[in-house]
Amino acid sequence: MTHPLKTTDDILTKDAHLIQSFANLDALKQNDARTAIVGAEGIHVTDSEGNKLIDGIGGLWCVNVGHGRREIIDAITEQLNTLDYYSTFYNFTHPAAAALADKLASLAPGNLNRVYFGNSGSVANDSAIRMLHHYNNRLGRPNKKKILSRMGAYHGSTHLAMAMTTPGYSEEWDTAADGLVHHLMEPCAYHQAEPGMSDAEFLDVLVEDMEKAIHDIGAENIACFIAEPIMGAGGVLVAPDGYHKRMREITAANDIKYIADEVVTAFGRLGAMFASEDVFGMQPDIINTAKGLTSGYQPLSATIISDEIYDVISEPGAMFLHGMTYSGHPAAAAAGLANIEILEREDIPGQVQVTGKIFENALRGLGDLDIVGDVRGSHFMMGLEFIKDKSTKTAFDADDNVGGKVAKHAQDRGLIARALGNSLILSPTLILDADNIASIEAILRDSISATMDDLKA
Ligand code: PMP
Repeated sequence: MTHPLKTTDDILTKDAHLIQSFANLDALKQNDARTAIVGAEGIHVTDSEGNKLIDGIGGLWCVNVGHGRREIIDAITEQLNTLDYYSTFYNFTHPAAAALADKLASLAPGNLNRVYFGNSGSVANDSAIRMLHHYNNRLGRPNKKKILSRMGAYHGSTHLAMAMTTPGYSEEWDTAADGLVHHLMEPCAYHQAEPGMSDAEFLDVLVEDMEKAIHDIGAENIACFIAEPIMGAGGVLVAPDGYHKRMREITAANDIKYIADEVVTAFGRLGAMFASEDVFGMQPDIINTAKGLTSGYQPLSATIISDEIYDVISEPGAMFLHGMTYSGHPAAAAAGLANIEILEREDIPGQVQVTGKIFENALRGLGDLDIVGDVRGSHFMMGLEFIKDKSTKTAFDADDNVGGKVAKHAQDRGLIARALGNSLILSPTLILDADNIASIEAILRDSISATMDDLKA
């Protein structure tokens, strides 16, 4: 049994009651502005008109092992047949949550051995902050609460996660955490470095910005620094080489906890289970992850904290006053276990080290097109920024919606890509082969050329 709605008209009529996320709701009142996805298999999805489309955004950066994996679906079904629901509140636990926590502790770097499950990346990030605030209260330093985040960041849509996100999102939506979060410079050289600046010089600018913030706010008032290894929703913004290691040294020297928001980057997307250590060579105090943890088959997040933090928040007299009804839901935990089994058995992170590089190089090749100003990212996490004049770096107007135009052309040609203002994001399933990648490259080249024609007209 699926849903009873069969035709596009049926679906879109009922859909008038659904509020889409991150959408121009007014524009979506037109039926032809919405796409109903009704099926998925492997690297493809099918829309309600019967079009088979390459899922170039992996659902939402999450369907890492591809769609329709029987093993995960069977694991979920079997779990629901045995134990449909029980909580991990109070003194209760269950086998799936216990096994997945143990597995994550074995995969996560160093002393990151304690796992708190939630149901979204936003909740993982909020949970990390709540735990650190409690940690500092336990240590008798109630003022050590402020958060260093970064311009360009995306950490989620709960009120606190949004406060840590780049401020643009909150202009008309407010933030519940005024004064709690300080945003450091966006670390993307294409936008922020002075002309002619080397990567190393730009890194020095970013380090200076961090050190100044710590000096001005006072390390004794700062709980943590939160950072995505590569910023995703901000437009796939990549910090200069050595950035995370330097930031790690500075946070450690100032007794500031480092939270790696690996909601997107973990579970193979950059060619490693966790990018912090294997790609960026540093061990944070907390890793937050979601999305690829179950490849999107079930909603699940994990906040993985160090033994050192755990020891303080679990000392005699401390109470863990935090929890969501669905923390470690049995079906989600079973999906996570089955998903990780596939990632390991097929060595998907290892494959991505090869195929992800082919993808990255294919996209970099599009840089020869007139309006492609910058191609950024790594492996299966890539972004294209469109620009009016490459030599002067003159941007298109926001209203030009060049990303939207390219995405529309791409969808008409069989590829889903994600528009973000005048940029385009690609975060496909991790099972693409060289032929699939060549098809994506050809569709994108064609779609960008068609957009250039539109802009001329
Ligand atoms: N952190 C990062 C880096 C993300 O990309 C996202 C979602 N795109 C989130 C947190 C929030 O995750 P969720 O949407 O599951 O709440």
